[in-house]
Amino acid sequence: MTSSNLSSNEQPPCQTSLPHVVILGAGPSGVGAAYQLVKKGLATVTVLEKQGSVGGNAASFELDGIHCDFGSHRLHPVVPPEIMRDLRELLGENLLYQTRHGRIRLQGQWIHFPLKPLDLLFELPKPFALRILADTVGKILPRTASGPESFSTVLERGLGRTICREFYFPYARKLWGVDPAELAATTAKKRVSGSSIGKILRKVAKQIPGLKPEGAGRFYYPRRGFGQFSECLYEAAKAAGADFRFGAAFKAIERDDNGVKAVRYELAGKEHVIPAQNVWSTIPISLLVRGMCPEAPPQVLSAASNVASRGMILIYLVLDQDRFSNFDAYYFPEESIPISRLSEPKIFSSSVEPRGRTVLCAELPSDPGCPEWEMKDEELGSRLCEWIVRAGLPAPAHVKHVVTRRLRHAYPVYNQGYEESFSTLDRWLSEISGLLTLGRQGLFAHDNTHHTLAMSYAAVNCFSPNGEFDHMRWARYREEFESHVVED
Ligand SMILES: Cc1cc2nc3c(=O)[nH]c(=O)nc-3n(C[C@H](O)[C@H](O)[C@H](O)COP(=O)(O)OP(=O)(O)OC[C@H]3O[C@@H](n4cnc5c(N)ncnc54)[C@H](O)[C@@H]3O)c2cc1C
Repeated sequence: MTSSNLSSNEQPPCQTSLPHVVILGAGPSGVGAAYQLVKKGLATVTVLEKQGSVGGNAASFELDGIHCDFGSHRLHPVVPPEIMRDLRELLGENLLYQTRHGRIRLQGQWIHFPLKPLDLLFELPKPFALRILADTVGKILPRTASGPESFSTVLERGLGRTICREFYFPYARKLWGVDPAELAATTAKKRVSGSSIGKILRKVAKQIPGLKPEGAGRFYYPRRGFGQFSECLYEAAKAAGADFRFGAAFKAIERDDNGVKAVRYELAGKEHVIPAQNVWSTIPISLLVRGMCPEAPPQVLSAASNVASRGMILIYLVLDQDRFSNFDAYYFPEESIPISRLSEPKIFSSSVEPRGRTVLCAELPSDPGCPEWEMKDEELGSRLCEWIVRAGLPAPAHVKHVVTRRLRHAYPVYNQGYEESFSTLDRWLSEISGLLTLGRQGLFAHDNTHHTLAMSYAAVNCFSPNGEFDHMRWARYREEFESHVVED
């Protein structure tokens, strides 16, 4: 389609001497970048978001008077100080500093999560603990590596057979929907913070009073749900002049030899075009590549199909009771229970209101085309009640109703060989002048919210009010992003 077919051609929101940046996506990285650009007076900003509100995967919504997230979300205290300062200032007394209180099911037994030294000594089933000990001693003996590196070889070398085969491998199959041997070694390095016995013991030791670093076992959480982080950045960005368009689905980027020219998007069934010389994209990188006009070369398009995400169904049970339990989240590594986690939002915000009602949120990794993806809410709800009971938890009493949400891009899947496909996309896109990809979906990074916010703050540090982007500096930041390891 050419511009002449378009129903609406626009001008950037206001004519100033500042450059104009169009941001695709209003998740934490999109709103974080918008806020920083306008706060620092570096650019005028238009944000295009296909949903009706901000927050992306880290958004919240209200269900029967309770603020719910898309699965258990907490802001880990390792947030870079500059970002923490902004969030504190914007949220004021709505920012809570909470203590983690979860449980994990290991070998049919519930133990505290994050792990505590005494639980490891006394609560783990003895045969399981002895096999881990034997693996640890065995690891002291020299071994020769065989075959290519993968998630399974890296973890087995670091942790031994027992923890891998009875904990990490089933969890990985459930989370990413593929066999651990098919996952790239990067998955173990970036996604598993306890990827060796030494690292696990160091993490556990951090729970010992006296050795506990500031923030261990704690997290930040806003009173109105995790999405309030994005909402406060959005409000501040809007107040400073950023223009947000909701229900605006990205369709294409028009470009020529000099770089990006315009963005096409659909809003309320109508196609619009907005001139743009700077486009910062936080939407899935494969979607962006498929929307390039003229089209990307065939090898780039084919690489886009090798960069895949795992989806997730969130099942919310609204219960007619004050509280389900005193634990904020339950983790289910074993495959016999299909959900990976169950959380109770009221506990995250220490809410007592509304009385006589609570919500349970279950995370069920799945993809379009899987039978559960098409299932009705009530069916998913009754299956969830069965799984809860099978895991030895009390049967949820008085289920008032069931609500579900589906995330198409919950987790990046690092299949063997994905690095090559990703760098094909990344290299090709980075040669287009004026185009930048960032955020969890843009850089295909299994990152926490504090990491994605760090990306948007870094991008703004590379931008100057004359519209120039410091690519050398961005390359150094990209190297720093490589060191991000996900916190659970
Ligand atoms: C189950 C789960 C639990 C998590 N728990 C934690 C946690 O405890 N702590 C933590 O820090 N992080 C957690 N995360 C990660 C956190 O959700 C992400 O780090 C964060 O959402 C990344 O923000 P982002 O802006 O980079 O991407 P996203 O949140 O994915 O935002 C991308 C945005 O782009 C929009 N978009 C997509 N396509 C289009 C289009 N065509 N047109 C316009 N807009 C489009 C989307 O609607 C979305 O708003 C969790 C994630 C999941 C899935």
